[in-house]
Amino acid sequence: MLEANLASIERRIEAAATSAGRDPSEITLIAVTKTVPIDRIQEAYDLGLRHFGESRLQEALPKIEALPDDITWHFIGKLQSNKAKKAAQHFPIIHTLENAAQVREIDKAGRPVDGLLELNIANESQKSGISTESVDDLLQCVIQSLHVRYRGLMTIGPNLSDPEQMRPYFKRLRELGERVGADWLSMGMSADFDVAIQEGATHIRVGSALFGERH
Ligand SMILES: *Cc1c(COP(=O)(O)O)cnc(C)c1O
Repeated sequence: MLEANLASIERRIEAAATSAGRDPSEITLIAVTKTVPIDRIQEAYDLGLRHFGESRLQEALPKIEALPDDITWHFIGKLQSNKAKKAAQHFPIIHTLENAAQVREIDKAGRPVDGLLELNIANESQKSGISTESVDDLLQCVIQSLHVRYRGLMTIGPNLSDPEQMRPYFKRLRELGERVGADWLSMGMSADFDVAIQEGATHIRVGSALFGERH
């Protein structure tokens, strides 16, 4: 099943990229492994995947420990600043920067970390991420940090049933990214990564389309 799912995801990536005149190899597929047990992640690794995303530190640590060390682990969950130093010790890429305290704690780990600013692109209450107006301040903070390398922007976006309705939000993230020199745009999940790729995603985060529904 995993193999067929991956083949189908790869076809979708290829079709979306081609339709937008992009090269599919520009797009990094991050396999989101929250709730997925180690043996299933190993299967995905054996199929050639090397980028994996986790959203909870406690759940991720044993997996990182058990799995091959040529995996690139992406932190994609809410990151409390009291856990940020520890996250930086294990994740070379953190997608969910949203305040200065986190950035200071990450710095204390003393390791290089690629950082993305998480945007609450639809200004939804209760959603994580910063508003468009706060981008410049947080960006300054990242640029002045010792170890966090600014890479770009990330968003989850509203939970809409029709992927086409996500297009304006992905477009908004891309336009903001152009203004603030983002090389990476982390946007698009199982239901809508095709649209995200058409709008410029460089990193897509895919869980259920690969591993099946989470329970
Ligand atoms: C769970 C999760 C995903 C993957 O969601 P699917 O719809 O299962 O592909 C992507 N990004 C974040 C931040 C997540 O928490």
